[in-house]
Parts: sequence; C-alpha cells; structure tokens
Amino acid sequence: MDDATRCPCLTGLPYGECCGPLHRGERSAPTAEALMRSRYSAFAAGEADYLRATWHPSTRPGSLELEPGRRWRRLDILGTRAGGPFDDAGEVEFVAFFADDDGTRGQLAERSRFVRDAGTWFYVDGDVRS
Ligand SMILES: [Zn+2]
Repeated sequence: MDDATRCPCLTGLPYGECCGPLHRGERSAPTAEALMRSRYSAFAAGEADYLRATWHPSTRPGSLELEPGRRWRRLDILGTRAGGPFDDAGEVEFVAFFADDDGTRGQLAERSRFVRDAGTWFYVDGDVRS
C-alpha cells in the first residue's frame, strides 16, 4: 500500500504516518486501540503476516487465510476500556464494514480483548456480536 494513500483505518492520516510503520515493524502500537486499527488496516491491505505477529501466542491460529475478494471499507470504533500506555490489558469494541466481489455487503461487530506483554500489545480474542 502506498504511503501517501489515506490509511484504511480512517484516522484521516496517510498510511505512511498511521498504520504503515506498524505493519513494517518500524514502530509498535502504543495503545490497544492503535493495535486494533492497525490490524483492521492489515486486513484491508492484505498484511497476513502482521495479523499473525500481533496475535497473542496463546490464541494465535496455525495459519491465517484472508477472505479473497473482500474489501474492508470502513472501521467504526464504538468504545474502549483501558488499553492505554500504562495498562496491561484492554478492550476495544468496533464495527467493520466490508463488501465482497460478488456484491455482498456485511459487517463484523466485535468486542476484542488485548494484552500487553513486555511492552507489546497483542490481540487475544473477541466476542462477535450480531
Ligand atoms: Zn491507520
């Protein structure tokens, strides 16, 4: 993804000043919400390695297949609990909207749990809401 492109997580910043440096391993996410945003952007940009790397080892899947032909169109952060620079755990509630190549549109609503291990935030798991 081009650094000048608007970041998929919709902060309004260019990718090169938002989630790009996280995907490239140049910076790590300071908060659970920042990690959540960068993981959403990784789905949008097809960065499967980043998704695996930011998944906590205790719950990380053996392999990860991204849905082919799925375009992630919008992320709404609905709320956060803890997950700040001085916390070791946090939750982020969000809705992500997608459109598939066959015209199907859908959304994923989840309350995700994150932990911080040795200063690095990881995604643990989440409760999907309908
Ligand atoms: Zn971003």
